[in-house]
Amino acid sequence: MDSQSLWEKSQKYAPGGVHSPVRAFKSVGGSPVFFQSAQGAYLTSVEGKEYIDFCQSFGPNILGHRDPEVQAAVSEMVDRVWSLGTCEPYSLELAEWLVEQVPSIEKIRFVCSGTEAVMSALRVARASTGRSRVLKFEGCYHGHADAMLVKAGSGLAGAAASDSAGVSEQNASDTLVAPLDREDLVEKVFAEHGSEIAAVIVEPLPANFGLLIQRKEFWFKTFELAKKHGALIIFDEVISGFRVAQGGMAEVLDFQPDLVTYGKVMGGGFPVGAYAGKRELMDLVAPAGSVYQAGTLAANPIGMVAGLATLKKVQREGVREILAARTENMAQAFNAAMSKKGIPLRMHYFASLFWMHEGETVRSVSDFHPQHTEYYKKVFAELLQQSIYLAPSAFEVGFMSLAHSEELLEKVVAQLIGAVDQAYNG
Ligand code: PLP
Repeated sequence: MDSQSLWEKSQKYAPGGVHSPVRAFKSVGGSPVFFQSAQGAYLTSVEGKEYIDFCQSFGPNILGHRDPEVQAAVSEMVDRVWSLGTCEPYSLELAEWLVEQVPSIEKIRFVCSGTEAVMSALRVARASTGRSRVLKFEGCYHGHADAMLVKAGSGLAGAAASDSAGVSEQNASDTLVAPLDREDLVEKVFAEHGSEIAAVIVEPLPANFGLLIQRKEFWFKTFELAKKHGALIIFDEVISGFRVAQGGMAEVLDFQPDLVTYGKVMGGGFPVGAYAGKRELMDLVAPAGSVYQAGTLAANPIGMVAGLATLKKVQREGVREILAARTENMAQAFNAAMSKKGIPLRMHYFASLFWMHEGETVRSVSDFHPQHTEYYKKVFAELLQQSIYLAPSAFEVGFMSLAHSEELLEKVVAQLIGAVDQAYNG
């Protein structure tokens, strides 16, 4: 069956035809391509056509699809065991490696997704402080736990409103929302609610509503306020963890959060998440403490060995540095061409993440170009035609992997420039 027929059939069996909303191409138009396999930088559609993949499963595949070293570890485990639900040595090996490598974590609990990690970290923060409210930032995504499915309420900053049907107003009102890049408003939230806030949760490199690289001073003011008011600081490093530095954004910013959440790269393409932090906080979790959290498939052996093989290779081969250099080269070549052509689109980048948006600086939701989505639609369609697969949303970032070679990227930059030219001037 071809993609079109599969798409029509899918809508009969899954809500909106998909199992996660952005896959449905709703914001870019057209119908999704169905892919049947992948290797390295390439996806293969059910029609047998190859696409260069810059989505890479929305981030986990930092080495590209089915890296041979990770594949060997996974195959060996598939032959040995699939799921145990017992004590086993594989999660211990990964946990030990992580605690040794990342200074901000002393203990870790594995879960199956970033959402679960965030939900659990928030529970620990509430238990530890005896407070119920959480401050998050507009434009930051932390998975789909009720408390995080909120938007800014009626004011510029303060009590949130539910952003999804099924999230009660009561649940949403425990969350406070502030805009990024506005120290004055964070200060206002703390002045009004400081004694009620259990934790401030941040995406220290916001990468879910475009790539909104923050000023260091903004973060440090936020952290200072949190500390002053007795709130914990949670770094959600589901995207940035192990991708931007071994110690994630905590290392980049040289700041030790109280709790950290992980996912994506840590599982090497398998469903793995984790929350981690200081010993006294993590020891609040059952069975050591009274914060309940559990999982049938938690610390699944296949995910554990895939994660460890990925992280070890990334570290050993200096993958982060290689990818950062390749991303920078691509962005600079693209941006130089855009300047020359008088097109306002720029490739914003940080480590191996990139995102195209009009203008030089974008730090908060209010900096968005009004026609960004319209232009992205055209660029996306043109690139898909040319067999380049970007995330099907103007707000998702691109992910570079080790499998995207310099030769390949040279070709891609030329195609990108052509597609953008066509979208803006065609
Ligand atoms: N936190 C961040 C920063 C994320 O980017 C995501 C997912 O994209 C999540 C949490 C949720 O992770 P998951 O999709 O594994 O539930």
